[in-house]
Amino acid sequence: MSTLERLGIGASWSGARVAVLGLGRSGKAATALLCRHGARVWAWDDRLDDETEGGDLLASLPREAHVDRDLPVEEVHALVVSPGVPPTHPWIVRAESAGLDVISELELASRRLRGPVVAITGTNGKSTTVALIHAMVEAADRKSLLAGNIGTALSEVADEADEHTTTVLECSSFQLERLESFRPDVAGVLNVAPDHLDRYAGLEDYAGAKRRLIERLGSEQDFVFPAADARIRGWAEETTARLRPFVPGASDTAAAFVDRDRLCVRTEAGVREVLRREDFPLLGTHNVENALAALATGVSLGLPVEAMAEALRKFEGLPHRTVLVLEREGVRWIDDSKATNVHAARASLAGTEAPVVLLAGGRGKGEDYSSLGDFADRLRLLVAFGEEGAAIEAAVADRVRTIRCARLEDALEAAARLVRAGDTVLLSPACASFDEFSSYAQRGEFFSDWVRRNLGGGR
Ligand code: ADP
Repeated sequence: MSTLERLGIGASWSGARVAVLGLGRSGKAATALLCRHGARVWAWDDRLDDETEGGDLLASLPREAHVDRDLPVEEVHALVVSPGVPPTHPWIVRAESAGLDVISELELASRRLRGPVVAITGTNGKSTTVALIHAMVEAADRKSLLAGNIGTALSEVADEADEHTTTVLECSSFQLERLESFRPDVAGVLNVAPDHLDRYAGLEDYAGAKRRLIERLGSEQDFVFPAADARIRGWAEETTARLRPFVPGASDTAAAFVDRDRLCVRTEAGVREVLRREDFPLLGTHNVENALAALATGVSLGLPVEAMAEALRKFEGLPHRTVLVLEREGVRWIDDSKATNVHAARASLAGTEAPVVLLAGGRGKGEDYSSLGDFADRLRLLVAFGEEGAAIEAAVADRVRTIRCARLEDALEAAARLVRAGDTVLLSPACASFDEFSSYAQRGEFFSDWVRRNLGGGR
């Protein structure tokens, strides 16, 4: 019997015997989901060997789960692995050589879903786009579950779905690995640009991970994609899925497009204006693209135009994504700490009011920074900081005025000293935060707190 039958879609899982490796948020949730549905579970995480951390982890698992360092290969049917576990882990190697199915948490949890499923991937803009889609579905008075990379593991919420529920999933490329039967009703790829090159063999390998989502679609599914992107357009030419292209300009064919500063959709009933650009509150052209991707998805789901318009108009944006923290003495301070790769920083730079003082740096992911220099005419100054400060400075110094600082705090002090009225100070670091902070969110909080404390006049 295949894993698919043992872990049948919507069926009881009693009799299924499953191992779960990696007990972060999604692994723990998968363990609980399996136990709730009657499966026998063997769970492991190498952190369990750690005396302090391991104790807390153990206490957070359901009591029915067996915790064991050794994978009981003969006893289990399948292995669920977390995205973070390297493929060289002994459990994975043993499971694969024994011919077990090795699947992801997304694959497992998707088997409990009912109702339409939307899956969005891409290098940048995923969280913003899924949050927009979720808001649109709710504005249409339909129940919506938001899960995946955005925070909540699908296993935590999958049981809440009934046939009227739309499930909106943010999928990182890691989460698109080890799928088997997962096939969303609407799949969207927002963009593909270099990122995580420390984990993938190269851009093609990374793009291939995203493409896997599209390869799963058939003629009953919809594919949402940016018509202006040659690589992704190529994927669209090869799929049998219904095509829902979006473009940030005029179009005679796209499902979502912009016509004279108005965001529009094309449905079976014809073209409808949704709202004016100025009524969509987020900054930057990249966010217009995210809104268009969400609208094209809304067309696929058959959402009323009025509901989509209301959701876009009221959307407040997500923290640390192009957020205006303070405007004072003619200077705008923007927190875009979530821009953790060059593609994201470029998108923000392109959409930010010039002249810009850019704060960039942190921990690198093997990227080339020289394309930040393409914005020389918009950049008055680049303040490079952190571990990658020297590499960034070296990559752009022939075209852009730069200074280098050790830490973000020094970069902020330098920016505050050097800004002029009319400037926009943009934290869009193009790097991960881990050299100095625990996350992009902590880095963004540090930036916002510093700006408010030192420049906000006590407000
Ligand atoms: P993700 O979930 O894919 O990381 P987010 O919505 O959290 O995407 O946005 C992360 C950062 O990526 C933003 O702060 C912004 O700098 C940049 N960004 C957002 N949308 C886009 C887009 N459509 N194209 C390019 N960059 C984008």
